[in-house]
Amino acid sequence: MTQRRILVVEDERAIREMVCFNLGRAGYHVSPAADAREARASIADQRPDLVLMDWMLPDISGLELTRQLKRDPETKEIPVIMLTARGEEDDRVAGLDGGADDYVVKPFAARELLARIRAALPRREAADAEVVSAGTLKLDSASHQVSAGSVEVGLGPTEYRLLEFFMRHPDRVYSRAQLLDRVWGGNVYVEERTVDVHIRRLRKALTPTGHHSFIRTVRGAGYRFSVGTS
Ligand code: CA
Repeated sequence: MTQRRILVVEDERAIREMVCFNLGRAGYHVSPAADAREARASIADQRPDLVLMDWMLPDISGLELTRQLKRDPETKEIPVIMLTARGEEDDRVAGLDGGADDYVVKPFAARELLARIRAALPRREAADAEVVSAGTLKLDSASHQVSAGSVEVGLGPTEYRLLEFFMRHPDRVYSRAQLLDRVWGGNVYVEERTVDVHIRRLRKALTPTGHHSFIRTVRGAGYRFSVGTS
C-alpha cells in the first residue's frame, strides 16, 4: 500500500511541527505549509490525499482556502479537516458550509486527530482501489457507476458485470461458454446466444460515447475487449 500524503497547513510552527511529527510516526507522508501560498504550491507540486487546514492563517483564512479548493474540480475531492481554536457552533457550521469534511478543535490530542484522519481517508482509499479504466471509460465497482468522461453510462446488471469482467481482463479472447462461466456463473443454465443479446445491449449503451468499438467480435472464437479502434 502506498503511503498516504497529508498536507498540514498551519502557521504556528510549534503546532505544525507537533502535528507533522505525530503523523509521520503514524506512517503518513507529511508536507508542511505555513500559509495559503505555500499550501497551493504544495498541492500543485504533489496532490495530497488529505489536507489539515488551520482556520487562522496570515494571508487568507483556512476557511477561504478550503472554499477555493472545493470549488476547483482538480482539488474538490481532497478531504479537508479544519483545525480550529473556535469551538462555537456558528464557526463549526461555517467551516462545514465552506466545504470542510470535518473539524478538530484545538487543543486536540494526537490520538483524536489520527482517528479523524482515518475516518476521512478510507472512503478515498476504497474508491481508488475499486476503479478500473480503459481509455476514458471508467468503472467504479464501489458505486457501481460507469462513466465516459463526464457522461454517466447507464447499464443493466448483467451488462455491468459483463463490462467489469472485460475491463479487468482486456486483450484476451473469451468464448461464449467462458463468458457464461465467468460472468453468469458456472451453475446457471443459460444458452450461449444469451451472451450475444447482452453484448448487443452493452454495445448499444456504449455507442453514444463511442466505446462500443472496445468490444470486438472475434469471428468463430468469441469476444475480446481492447482499447482503441483498430
Ligand atoms: Ca493559525
